[in-house]
Amino acid sequence: AATASAPALTAARQALKRYYGYDNFRPMQGDIIQSILGGQDTVVLMPTGGGKSVCFQIPAVVSEGVCVVVSPLIALMKDQVEALKANGIVAAYINSSVSQSEASDITRAALSGHLKLLYVSPEKLLSEGFLQFLTRVNVSMFAIDEAHCISSWGHDFRPEYTQLGVLRTQFPSIPIIALTATADRLTQRDIKTQLNLHEPKVFLSSFDRPNINLVVRPGQDRLGQILDFIGRNPNDAGIIYCLSRKTCETVAQKLQQKGIKAGYYHAGMTPNQRGEAQEKFLQDDLQVIVATIAFGMGIDKSNVRWVMHYNLPKNIEGYYQEIGRAGRDGTDATALLFYSFADVMSMREMVTKDVPPRQAQLNQAKLERMQQFAEAASCRRRILLHYFSEDLGHDCGNCDICRNPPITFDGTLLAQKALSASARTQQRVAINLLIDILRGMRNQAVLQHGYDQLKTYGAGQDLPYLDWYSYVHQMLNDGLFYIAYEEGYSLKITERGQQVLKGQLPVSLKKFQPAEKADKSTRAS
Ligand code: ADP
Ligand code: ZN
Repeated sequence: AATASAPALTAARQALKRYYGYDNFRPMQGDIIQSILGGQDTVVLMPTGGGKSVCFQIPAVVSEGVCVVVSPLIALMKDQVEALKANGIVAAYINSSVSQSEASDITRAALSGHLKLLYVSPEKLLSEGFLQFLTRVNVSMFAIDEAHCISSWGHDFRPEYTQLGVLRTQFPSIPIIALTATADRLTQRDIKTQLNLHEPKVFLSSFDRPNINLVVRPGQDRLGQILDFIGRNPNDAGIIYCLSRKTCETVAQKLQQKGIKAGYYHAGMTPNQRGEAQEKFLQDDLQVIVATIAFGMGIDKSNVRWVMHYNLPKNIEGYYQEIGRAGRDGTDATALLFYSFADVMSMREMVTKDVPPRQAQLNQAKLERMQQFAEAASCRRRILLHYFSEDLGHDCGNCDICRNPPITFDGTLLAQKALSASARTQQRVAINLLIDILRGMRNQAVLQHGYDQLKTYGAGQDLPYLDWYSYVHQMLNDGLFYIAYEEGYSLKITERGQQVLKGQLPVSLKKFQPAEKADKSTRAS
């Protein structure tokens, strides 16, 4: 394969120093730049914060002509172009937000060879006349940013991206560099084939972000847990991801009521409102932003200290990308995921509804991987990295499992108490009410049905709510109960559960780690 000449690399290093102030390339950046400068199609799979931009911006600066960058979001283009200009590099963007006269200034600069980088949306690139215009421009290379948008399997699918294959056919001799922070096999394959890349060189950098402490907590009293965490880290900025717009607003409001500077961000807001919320967060006027996954693509805020998932993400790619927004400066950060079985149920419904069967099956499989991660009893980082085809070779020491390894015990008696309580309600109660019965609570739901008269009422009052919550979930995962969500989420006893009730099958449970203990270790210090 072709490689860049030594002088070209020297020029690249000089440009890195001159325009960015950095002395050295990060591992891989140098090789990537050498590959693209050598005229080779190149695929870069590097986690968020890894330094992908430099990989095409430096080659653009040291090459003759214009590098055309395809980027999916207007906000992203604007930020990148402003950053480039601030570094003294001639760059511009054309998208629907740019006026006709501005656009013609920019096309003139491109034709004169004055421009080094031209950012365009895929719609603009593919629009009538633009490809034609490009044939008159001296294009040095094409950079396809956020290239995973091309994969219909992914979570950021952009149909327009699938048409970018025309670049290779219309400009056969101009190299293409595709970059993404998503590294799974399917996405990789889609990028290579749909862009018609010619024997591309693939660079897969490590996806490990060792400074992020990975923690999963039961999804009970999420708000209380969040307030507690913020209370212990009062100066740290963070993002809370929620599934619905409504939840974003309610959670933000609840935090505000406690005097926390919190805002929200979701696709139901006007572009102005969104821009304002984002700006406030970037400028540290907001400590917390409660957002749907619409927030964050391309956000470069290095001091985000934590990311929480109020709801279970759809898949590991999304989860990984979102937690990657924490700790980009390399110092200690926390990723906290709230997990409940009910979330899996509702998410399953969501990802399989109104999609073709093949897609539904895949979505469900991906969700199951996410669920396995959340329920894991072994090092979470290893699980995460295995997903991206990487092996750490050892446990990480910086996840909740490594810090507080689960202790298993004979839980047969506990399980029998729960199963028997359920049986005595004719299997009519959902998790919360079952726990209330076990703990002998005297609330309305219990009294109304006369559950305080049951033989098992109060049989588990020695255990706190969260312990029971964890054990009942473990029983669900172990297949002793299932949830009839069409019947008000009531717990039903399975065949296996019956065997446990009859004393034919022992049950092993993981001891629930009390919050204080786990919390103490949520921050390495
Ligand atoms: P990505 O696009 O992969 O998320 P960026 O290109 O935004 O990452 O880079 C992340 C941060 O790393 C930026 O602040 C960038 O300036 C910095 N960076 C990139 N390359 C280097 C380097 N060679 N040396 C030091 N810092 C770098
Ligand atoms: Zn670990």
